[in-house]
Amino acid sequence: MKHALLFLPLGVLFSVGLLIPGGAVAADLTLVSKSVAPAPIIVFADAPPRTRAAAVTLAEAIQKISGVLPPVMDGVPQPMPERAIWVGYQPALKALFPKTDFEFQHPEEILIAANEKHVVIAGRDRWDPARMDVVTREGKITGMQQEYGTVNAVYTFLQDQLGVRWFWPGDLGEDVVARESIDVAPMEYRYHPQIRSREGVFNFSSLGNRGYGRAHDWTMQQRLQLCSLSMEGGHGFGDWWDRFHKTHPEIFALQPDGTRSGFPAPRTAKLCMSNPKVWDLWMQEVAADLAQNPSLTVFNASPNDSWSSGHCVCDNCSAWDHPEGEPRLFHYKKYSVERPATSDRDVTFANKLGELLKEKYPGKDYRVLMLSYGHSRPAPVKARPADNVIMSIVANFFGRTGLVDRGSTRGDTYRQQFEAWAGIVPAMMWRPNTGSPGGWQQGLPDLSTQQTIRDIKDVAAANCVGIFIDGVWEHWATQGPQLYVMAQLVWNPQTDADAILKDYYQRAFGPAAAPVQEYFEGLEKARMAFTAQNGEADVFGLKDLYTEALLSESQARLTRAAAAVPAESVYARRVAFVQAGLTYTRLQADNIRLMEGYWKKKNPEIATQVRANWKEIDSVIAAHPYALNAGPIRPGAPRTLGLHPDHGRAKVKKVSKKAKADDLDLN
Ligand SMILES: [Zn+2]
Repeated sequence: MKHALLFLPLGVLFSVGLLIPGGAVAADLTLVSKSVAPAPIIVFADAPPRTRAAAVTLAEAIQKISGVLPPVMDGVPQPMPERAIWVGYQPALKALFPKTDFEFQHPEEILIAANEKHVVIAGRDRWDPARMDVVTREGKITGMQQEYGTVNAVYTFLQDQLGVRWFWPGDLGEDVVARESIDVAPMEYRYHPQIRSREGVFNFSSLGNRGYGRAHDWTMQQRLQLCSLSMEGGHGFGDWWDRFHKTHPEIFALQPDGTRSGFPAPRTAKLCMSNPKVWDLWMQEVAADLAQNPSLTVFNASPNDSWSSGHCVCDNCSAWDHPEGEPRLFHYKKYSVERPATSDRDVTFANKLGELLKEKYPGKDYRVLMLSYGHSRPAPVKARPADNVIMSIVANFFGRTGLVDRGSTRGDTYRQQFEAWAGIVPAMMWRPNTGSPGGWQQGLPDLSTQQTIRDIKDVAAANCVGIFIDGVWEHWATQGPQLYVMAQLVWNPQTDADAILKDYYQRAFGPAAAPVQEYFEGLEKARMAFTAQNGEADVFGLKDLYTEALLSESQARLTRAAAAVPAESVYARRVAFVQAGLTYTRLQADNIRLMEGYWKKKNPEIATQVRANWKEIDSVIAAHPYALNAGPIRPGAPRTLGLHPDHGRAKVKKVSKKAKADDLDLN
């Protein structure tokens, strides 16, 4: 049956039949139906393990949809099947798709093509069969590739052609529309993602990360996890003082007192970046890193943290600064002085290393990563990053409004600084810290969906090749729609975000779509108004956001949502999932109010009430997997300090002005 999918809910895409000469329409290919045996899935011989696993996932998805499991075969079957789904490129495809170009020109490029007999789902794959197991600080990662085009093509096919959705991690978040027949119209689709470093958007669920993340499968399904540029979020030289200060004291920053003392501390010692010995040692590090992990292509050269302290004052390094750079306050031992921003210096250093990389590894497309952070936040006056330098801009405007860089003597906002860089970089990463303006870190509905949609699109328009967000805490019941639309846009920033959200609400909540959408949008509106007024409130300030009025009006919407769906339906379970988020929000808002009073006067009855609330939070979390991520919000965790009577309150340290400036980015 042609176009049998027409009855499907919005968002299930399928292609219009291609016109063939003579005006007839080419027939759809039936992958499986009541009367047609399933087309086998054929993977190229010796496919790397994650690529082969994607073929098995495809077979299982076809079974979930149609009830029939297609066989998965390897290599070129003899005899050749009359119809087949080909996963990954192999030479036999040239005869089956004579007009299709199988030369993948772009990194991570994917191709989905169908004719009347065959479908090919392929992409640019790069891997070294001998070096697929990589040992990282967190343990061994197996099956690593430099590029996973075919895997991402399979998940694109599942979403766009078969209509599968993964709204949040776990079974409840997966949405599959059952039907007897799966047909694919003749088509050809190609795409390559502009944002090649995507794993850091949900960094806790990046490949091999064993931290808080619980969404590793989901980030793979969303085509974020298996990306082709790895970007370390941090600083480049943390262990250099310990390793080199005895053998190479001259590579460390000259201080105004004439020493190379490593001020302010071993982990945060600065380098004399203009010293060729630094370049030489850095190149040796690159070679050692490549020996360990040959899939690396990006090498970090960002100065250590404690960003206002210890930068080199030698003549050569100072000559790399631009006298018209924004004057900023630099700290040294018992001495502070205004000097130009280090942006021109850092870019010059990165360009130097970039030159050396190109010389030693011609044709390898290796890049230098340089943070714009601390005193290198303003765009450089004259220096311009070379083609193989990626600037990683720590511009904290994710979900935040008008935040000013407090290290700026001109009062520039992070957004202004970002825009200045955007005008001059060949490639950049956006690496915002999130803070917790509306309870983001406490798992509350701190939603800035519309602003974030605009920002991801703007950032993409500014030659962005990577996004790393520090951090996304994976609270799906309270922040789900925003996390979903973020994932979809990072894969393809051109996608229509309204359509994504419409599809999300309709597919996930069916008859309750409207009240659930009103629920999330109501919370977002309140949050945006609150943060415009309050900027960065501390956790106790959040009681003015999560007021009784907002909570009751939100509850009324969810009560309507629950009444709109058939009991025991998947929609009812999903509404209950969202309800778990609101129940949590109410309990935590109650804790915030109670504990603010408790720290003023330790009333045991209040402590009892708060402990009871936490007990209820435990059972809400236990009953709804993935609704809230228990790790970062357990009592006593850094982000809930102050909200439980047995775990003390966040330490309010007396800090000097200098320490305060250095700590700005810790959130
Ligand atoms: Zn120097």
